[in-house]
Amino acid sequence: MILEKGALYVVATPIGNLGDLSQRAIEVLQSVTVIAAEDTRHTRQLLQQFDISTDCLALHEHNERKVTAALLARLAQGDSIALVSDAGTPLLSDPGFHLVREAAGQGLTIIPVPGPSAIMAALSAAGLPTDRFCFEGFLPSKSAARRRRLEALQQATPTLVFFEAPHRILSTLADMQSIFGAERRVVLARELTKTFETFLRGSLEEVLQQVSADQNQQKGEMVILLQGASPAEQDGIDADTERVLKILLQELSVKQAASLAAAITGVKKNLLYQFALKETSSK
Ligand code: SAM
Repeated sequence: MILEKGALYVVATPIGNLGDLSQRAIEVLQSVTVIAAEDTRHTRQLLQQFDISTDCLALHEHNERKVTAALLARLAQGDSIALVSDAGTPLLSDPGFHLVREAAGQGLTIIPVPGPSAIMAALSAAGLPTDRFCFEGFLPSKSAARRRRLEALQQATPTLVFFEAPHRILSTLADMQSIFGAERRVVLARELTKTFETFLRGSLEEVLQQVSADQNQQKGEMVILLQGASPAEQDGIDADTERVLKILLQELSVKQAASLAAAITGVKKNLLYQFALKETSSK
């Protein structure tokens, strides 16, 4: 393969299944002068599988700034360099942002070699809306900070995508249930592209129950996808109240339905009246 001189190739690598390394990625990794890898031992194992003997150097969160200067100098001299992380697409909760930003700032050529990403794999098979989504990376590990972050997302309408560590999955799902309500749809995508690939789909209450009841669901690598807020939630009306109001609207006038729903749920009548008006006028 003839590579562009002085180009930085950002190469996606498998998230489990080696068959997902693209032909183009293999050729780029074979042909570059050097591979900047998050963990050189891990990457050498991958390279071995494909008989690639290109030199590797380490570029991880602790040395990225230092190594960037040396890599930029090599790019300027005409070396071609590949950037890879341990799994999936570099920069997505992985090192490389500093290098790519600096290379872009210097007007160097940056070429993506797209491929596996746990985010895209999870979204493509979850069955939640994909017209708009928001990748939220890892949530804070401490519960108070995590809850604050989730509270800030309560009204967000795009599908929300999170990475999560297995030992925190139960507490994170429990926090999500208490903040987004038991009815909000969620998908837990686990061990993607690997032998024990699993998708758990349902309400937060259902998925939390399934994960609590089965230790196997608390293991491995995982992505949480949470449906965005409905228009009702954006108006401050929770899923249960919305359901009550919609049932009443099938039989009653907007005014009667809002009034009865307010009596049943304790939510302000005017809020329900305005929402019911929007609902009926959009039909
Ligand atoms: N850059 C990667 C990408 O493009 O997907 C992700 C790297 S991030 C440090 C690692 C996290 O991604 C894991 O903790 C997990 O949340 C998610 N992940 C990676 N591989 C996965 C897999 N095979 N199945 C499910 N989630 C995965």
